[in-house]
Amino acid sequence: MEIRSVGIVGAGQMGNGIAHVFALAGYEVLLNDVNPEMLGAAIATIDKNMERQVSREKISAADKAGAMARIKTSATLADLGPCDLIIEAATEREEVKNAIFAGLAPHLAPQTILTSNTSSISITRLASRTDRPERFMGFHFMNPVPVMQLVELIRGIATDRETYDTLMEVVRRLGKTAANAEDFPAFIVNRILVPMINEAVYTLYEGVGSVKSIDEAMKLGANHPMGPLELADFIGLDTCLAIMNVLHDGLGDSKYRPCPLLSKYVEAGWLGRKTKRGFYDYRGDVPVPTR
Ligand code: NAD
Repeated sequence: MEIRSVGIVGAGQMGNGIAHVFALAGYEVLLNDVNPEMLGAAIATIDKNMERQVSREKISAADKAGAMARIKTSATLADLGPCDLIIEAATEREEVKNAIFAGLAPHLAPQTILTSNTSSISITRLASRTDRPERFMGFHFMNPVPVMQLVELIRGIATDRETYDTLMEVVRRLGKTAANAEDFPAFIVNRILVPMINEAVYTLYEGVGSVKSIDEAMKLGANHPMGPLELADFIGLDTCLAIMNVLHDGLGDSKYRPCPLLSKYVEAGWLGRKTKRGFYDYRGDVPVPTR
């Protein structure tokens, strides 16, 4: 099956990045969000990020103009009905995702492929609540989408071969690399990465180090390009907490218990860069550690 048009649900950090790469690869993109303000903000972000690519000579001004013209927005979910492929990239809550797929169902053509960009939720379970578990897959992009090379492809128990082959071809056309992951909590990248971030938060919580010393130690001592707390702010602390909860519930091992300090930051609404405060405060010119 050839994919020409893509409907993206959720225009947050991931949704705008996904729209960006699909539009540059020549797909028609329809971006949706329950919050209409997010749609305007997403277009502004995509414009700014593509402009940076133009100034670095990664793409031409004509590439940018063509891609921007291929992106449309709509606050009405039903408008995504005619798309060949749907990528759900809304908030990491299972009931939100189930409601989106239920809302889309009456408007979709029978061959439309449904995917979720979920970081951790069971693809088999999300698929089982839809009318097409065989045409459902996990399509997990990394943040920031225009920069990161990897896409995890996760088949649910019922996903058919054609759906998998179609998405492999999409990944190839995007110029990215696919990694196949089995459908177990948090797949490959987040199964390893997010417990490390959670451990960094425990290290802070127990007073072993400060925000600055933990991040510096991991940058200079483990050669990580970004410290774990800086990275947590980048991912979003609500998303990190949601992933830890999925690992804890799904694998039943106490080693995955979320750090209480991570929960406290989320309760405070300090979710990282997207709310301008997390382990760092981003409201000034330079990020300032909050502990
Ligand atoms: P975000 O908070 O930046 O954006 C989520 C968007 O979804 C918001 O704009 C919100 O208004 C919208 N939304 C909520 N309910 C909706 C609905 N019913 N219909 C339409 N839109 C709705 O979150 P994000 O970081 O972009 O994450 C989105 C998804 O991508 C999550 O499943 C997350 O686990 C996954 N993901 C995140 C990262 C990351 O690093 N942040 C990486 C890979 C995957």
